[in-house]
Amino acid sequence: MKWVKIVLGTIIVLIAIGIITGESVTPNQNEAGNSINSVATNTNEDKKIEIEKLILSDTDIKLDIKDTKNILVNIQPSKADTENLQFCSTNTQIVKFSKDTIKSDETEVYGKLQPISEGKCEIYVKSNEIESNKVKVTVIDKERIENEKRLKEEQAKKEAEEEAKRLAEEQAKKQAQAQAQTQYQPPKQETTTIQPSTPNNNNSRTVYITPTGKRYHYSSTCGGKNSRSTTLSNAISLGLTPCQKCAQ
Ligand SMILES: [Zn+2]
Repeated sequence: MKWVKIVLGTIIVLIAIGIITGESVTPNQNEAGNSINSVATNTNEDKKIEIEKLILSDTDIKLDIKDTKNILVNIQPSKADTENLQFCSTNTQIVKFSKDTIKSDETEVYGKLQPISEGKCEIYVKSNEIESNKVKVTVIDKERIENEKRLKEEQAKKEAEEEAKRLAEEQAKKQAQAQAQTQYQPPKQETTTIQPSTPNNNNSRTVYITPTGKRYHYSSTCGGKNSRSTTLSNAISLGLTPCQKCAQ
């Protein structure tokens, strides 16, 4: 029965190793861990680190009403207790300022700006008597500003068009009156005066217009290479107005 002794002996040895390793290694780690933990807990519980300084690093924030913004709160010393940290806005009707619970962690504290309406106010943080610098916040509504700008431009364009139309109508009326006057002239004279090739100031005189221009020109060079000749009355009926350079 020698093999039985060998087997039993081996088992005993293995158990012994198990006990030694289990007791000698693991408890040592625990002791070390416990001692560190207890030191840390003691400092936290016995002596809270007071905040000495609070700084918001942003200056003059401009924020669209549709956006939000995170602001890092610089706390000195960095391990100070932030239990009493308050987020303040001088006008909560314009912007709300609160702790960003999602972005903040053990090492960094963030505030979150939530715009409410257009305007200006200031934000800061405080903890007991310690107050941070104040940061100016301007909330704007880009959409409203752009819409107003667009409406203004449309209005100006409409007014310009109406003015141009009015001037053209006035001009046409004057020309019609002038034409009516020429028609009162004796027929004999009428036949001799109508000479399309001769430039004159009546409606049949030759003017130069371009496909897109709003003016008619007396000079073809002033009209440019795209210009074509037509009669003054036709140019006026198209709503064109005289060129300031050559058709005065
Ligand atoms: Zn011209």
